[in-house]
Amino acid sequence: MEARPSDPLDEARSQLRRAIDLLGLDDSTYEVLASPERVLQVKVTVKMDDGSVKTFLAWRSQHNSALGPYKGGVRYHPSVTMNEVIALSMWMTWKNSLAGLPYGGGKGGIRVNPKVMSARELEQLSRKYFEAISDIVGVDRDIPAPDVYTDPQVMAWFLDEYSKVTRGQFFGVVTGKPYELGGLRARVVSTGYGVAVSTREAAKKFLGGIEGKTVAVQGYGNVGYYAAKFLREMGAIVVAVSDSRGGVYMPEGVDPDHALKVKRETGTVANYPGGKKVSTMEVLELPVDILVPAAIEEVITEDNAGRIKAKIISEGANGPTTTKAEKILTEKGVVVLPDILANAGGVIMSHIEWVNNRMGGWITDEEALSKLEQKMVENTRVVIETWEKKLEQGRNNLRDAAYMIAVERVVKAMKLRGWI
Ligand code: NAD
Repeated sequence: MEARPSDPLDEARSQLRRAIDLLGLDDSTYEVLASPERVLQVKVTVKMDDGSVKTFLAWRSQHNSALGPYKGGVRYHPSVTMNEVIALSMWMTWKNSLAGLPYGGGKGGIRVNPKVMSARELEQLSRKYFEAISDIVGVDRDIPAPDVYTDPQVMAWFLDEYSKVTRGQFFGVVTGKPYELGGLRARVVSTGYGVAVSTREAAKKFLGGIEGKTVAVQGYGNVGYYAAKFLREMGAIVVAVSDSRGGVYMPEGVDPDHALKVKRETGTVANYPGGKKVSTMEVLELPVDILVPAAIEEVITEDNAGRIKAKIISEGANGPTTTKAEKILTEKGVVVLPDILANAGGVIMSHIEWVNNRMGGWITDEEALSKLEQKMVENTRVVIETWEKKLEQGRNNLRDAAYMIAVERVVKAMKLRGWI
């Protein structure tokens, strides 16, 4: 599936509206939060290897800073729009707030196809972008991180450019950096690990435990693989995995590490020996206890929601479930662990990295993962508890509870600061 068909900003605003209504807040509070505090559009020109000059549009959106400096990734994608970047920055406000991090929400994007650029061209693009936004970022202002098609190398260029512009060494200005530049090795596993922890906690509550429960995973990249690996270590049986080229179903269980090896060697997990081949969409409808969509957005829709058999859906990906599908699932009693809860492990680890950089510290992987686990356990507990105590089961879902908590915290912070 390609980019969202609808305007993501409309979607983000309707989610905000729902939370505002559930909290009984007024229209003026909605208005304050429906648009970002600032969006900077910049033009980035790059001298290409063939001697030509290309111009790219880029943005940094700073949605809300009531809880702390803006925080959120930068994506490089040919279809990025300003509205998409604004919507993503709003989602970061909620994700950071729900996670209990002292961060507001921000996001950046460059409209570019990085796949057709050389490393030198990408470096120039990255440095020029960061220079152009350097007045509004900073360790205590706005802290970018990797997102779609940006990685630790891009963060290293951002950091270096910032050091040149500011004539200082501010390692906390970006997170998701290479280990040698103050990044954490545990970053790579953090989102998948967080998904697994949140799922385990929900399974304790709704399925009597994670031991022996069956899991299907859609998408076998960073999030999907580590979610599968850790869920298996926790005692679940991963019975199906898939990637963009297909999947495999094996009721007796798939070995996540072997599946990764098969993917690396043959191009897809679908070649896992011995199992039944299934399509990327069939994997969603298998008879399992837990489903982890960890690929792309809007894969669970009103068309297939009725056929989903899992009792828990743990959103590793961002936005895999449409609003219409969620209504069907809620009525069926399926528990959906929303993306802003389930996949917050990456940004939580970013916070640990940022704190470590500011302290000039040397946190170990074990300490970092243990802190991440504590936060995921607590956040999952609070969302479930809010849902049980404040909302109507069968009508409202965990996403409603998560948004209520997130929006309420931001509103409280704005009130305390005298903004509203
Ligand atoms: P990735 O690129 O490492 O992996 C994506 C996987 O999805 C690949 O295996 C790909 O083959 C598969 N895929 C693509 N299209 C598919 C389709 N139509 N059907 C089935 N599989 C398909 O990406 P990732 O970093 O693992 O991110 C996955 C999702 O998780 C994205 O929605 C991303 O926004 C979200 N997410 C990632 C992080 C993170 O830290 N990596 C954090 C929060 C959210």
